[in-house]
Amino acid sequence: MKRNSLLVLLAILLLVVAGLAGGVAFYWHYIGELLERDVVANVMEAGNETAETFVRALDSDQRLVDTIAITVQTNYPWNNQEKLGRFLFLQGKYNGFENLGIIPLDGSKMITAHESNLPQDWQKEMLMRALAEDTFTTKRYAQIGKAKNVFVQAASLHDGMEPVGALVVLFPTERYSSLLALSSLVENGVAAVISKDGEVEVAGRSLKGRNIFTVLEHAKFRRGQSLDELRQDIQDGQTTFVRYRLDGQNRLLYGVALPVNDWYLVSVLPTDFIQAQAQRVAWVSLALFAFLFFLFGLLGLYIFCLRAYSNKQLFKTAFVDKLTGIDNFNRMSISFEDRVQALHGEAALVIFDILKFKVINDMLGYERGDLILQQAADVLKSWLNEGEHICRSSADNFVLLLSLTDRRNLRARITRMLAAVRRECAISDSCLKVEGVCGVYELKEPLPFYIALDRARLALANAKKSPKENIQFYDEKDRHRIVQERQLENTMEQALADGAFTLMLQPKYDFRTGYMQGAEALVRWNQADKGLVRPDDFIPLFERNGFILKLDMFILEQAVKFLAKWRSDGKQQVPIAVNFSRLHLNDSRYIPQMTQIVDAYDVPHHLIEVELTESVILNNRELAQSVIRGLHKKGFSVAMDDFGSGYSSLNVLKSLQFDSIKLDKEFLSGCEQNPTARHVVSGAVEMIKAVGAKVVAEGVETEKQAAFLREMGCDLAQGYFFSKPIPEEEFEKLLKPASPPEE
Ligand code: C2E
Ligand code: CA
Ligand code: CA
Repeated sequence: MKRNSLLVLLAILLLVVAGLAGGVAFYWHYIGELLERDVVANVMEAGNETAETFVRALDSDQRLVDTIAITVQTNYPWNNQEKLGRFLFLQGKYNGFENLGIIPLDGSKMITAHESNLPQDWQKEMLMRALAEDTFTTKRYAQIGKAKNVFVQAASLHDGMEPVGALVVLFPTERYSSLLALSSLVENGVAAVISKDGEVEVAGRSLKGRNIFTVLEHAKFRRGQSLDELRQDIQDGQTTFVRYRLDGQNRLLYGVALPVNDWYLVSVLPTDFIQAQAQRVAWVSLALFAFLFFLFGLLGLYIFCLRAYSNKQLFKTAFVDKLTGIDNFNRMSISFEDRVQALHGEAALVIFDILKFKVINDMLGYERGDLILQQAADVLKSWLNEGEHICRSSADNFVLLLSLTDRRNLRARITRMLAAVRRECAISDSCLKVEGVCGVYELKEPLPFYIALDRARLALANAKKSPKENIQFYDEKDRHRIVQERQLENTMEQALADGAFTLMLQPKYDFRTGYMQGAEALVRWNQADKGLVRPDDFIPLFERNGFILKLDMFILEQAVKFLAKWRSDGKQQVPIAVNFSRLHLNDSRYIPQMTQIVDAYDVPHHLIEVELTESVILNNRELAQSVIRGLHKKGFSVAMDDFGSGYSSLNVLKSLQFDSIKLDKEFLSGCEQNPTARHVVSGAVEMIKAVGAKVVAEGVETEKQAAFLREMGCDLAQGYFFSKPIPEEEFEKLLKPASPPEE
């Protein structure tokens, strides 16, 4: 799971980086293109503009030449050479000419502003051209006369209609250099005026060679372009545009034909700066992007951490027991099946419980109680092997999932665990012990958690009941019992309505007279498939589910009905003892309900005896006392059942006003042979008599027992020796006719 998500993360990262790299490359290229397109447009525009400016400058100089020619024609007599020479000198000086002069048609000497030795045949050529073309501009002359690089502009001179000569002005080519600087575009850009054969006429700044075709012979042109093509374009007077690489620099060249001579204006621009600029823009963008990416990454990380943290917290509250820090019940129930599977489907589900933990809490306080639970959790956890788990399910209840071994080993292991808990959690300043009990369910097939838990719980309940063995394993017979109990629960209500519960009466005899003196009502369940079922099989269940409250009242009513019947049949009415569960003690309606039933048949209250078991009374003596008092007030008599089966003491007998005490049948076992047991019985009888109650001996099975009990001074006897519990029809035969009312 973790590995997978790591791989996914890595893949995403790689994808992002690849995407980013691709994006940057594309962006870089795109910016380069964009910039270059921009630069090309600029160069073209600047080239065209420069061409125009250059041509305009030539034109205006031509007009200047024309103006000077007209001035010469109208104001200066040809013969006054001195005056003319002076005029020319001043014109040359103020207009920045290299030189200027007049070539007369008559062949006389040329008049110049500055002295020079302009060749004779040149003079002739200029004169002829002026007469033919009127005005013109020549190509560059390098060193003509004393002059530097110059263009010559000439105009013809006339006297009236007659041509008389030509005015020639030598313009230094430098005059035009500044127009060709192109510096506004880029530092290294340059424009030059060339002739069709590539010779540079004038340039923005000094150039490497004087012929661009010669220079470009070493250039490497872009694919699809060549020097020849460029030469052809220029030859044809076409606008041209090429890119090439020279001296380690990329450049572009834009050429446009000029309307003067066969001139051509070329603009050359190095383009590396475009790349550099594109790079710079791309880098800045990349940096910005990286920064943003980093920022988002940081944000993502923060959110991730926050989520991980809150998930952890959530997990803690959802799955961790706050007190002990181990898993809580939720965690176990959710992951149970996976965990069992991790143990290869075979596991032992153990419920651990601390005996009488409530007493520890009550006596030592909750803080100490909590501490003990923490210690117990630590100890139990330390016993776990890999793949085994523990959780706290409720207060002092821990659920352990152990790997399954044979029962003997498992029991030995749990015994050692319990001993460790006893030792580690020992309470030094009190006699209280931390004693654990365990219910174990051996899981050999896949089962839902709640079922496995139910079974371990059942085993735990057995362990709590068992005084000797505090580790109990769940057995199939337990399950069988549960199934049967379910069945009983499902049918009990209907059984009550159908009259399937019947009543047996077991007679009680007076030891002194031997007469039958009363009976105990004992319930039976008449089940279609099983016949009469004894109460031990269903009373404990009814006490757990509360149905006993209804059943006891039903039995009381049956008993009262018998009494009413005997009276109407003119028979003797003997008291009937009815068993009442301890549950009635907590029910405030108990006595009123009872009274109502008995009164409904007009039966005297003293004929009903209430049997309460010894354990009921011990558990809550005050409540028992108030209930007994209430019953006495109504005239019912009260018997303590099963005396001697528990821990009754003389004190209890004294404080509670029982009318009779029934000695438990266990009391009698062995008293025939054992002299100590005889002493115990005789002591008990004496004790009971001392508090003024009658002694009833229960479970008398033999003549010997009967004789012994009579000897001990018991008042009444009940047991198989005298009679088993019998149906009412049979019992009725034991009754004498009612004695006539006393006078
Ligand atoms: P218990 O109140 O101690 O009733 C006496 C039990 O001892 C009866 O068992 C009776 O049949 C049996 N017994 C009588 N003489 C002898 C004898 O000589 N030897 C032996 N071994 N046993 C003898 P039973 O009828 O099975 O009742 C069992 C228990 O069920 C009763 O014990 C009583 O606690 C409870 N019980 C019975 N009926 C009711 C009822 O209507 N309501 C309530 N709440 N409990 C009832
Ligand atoms: Ca009884
Ligand atoms: Ca009894």
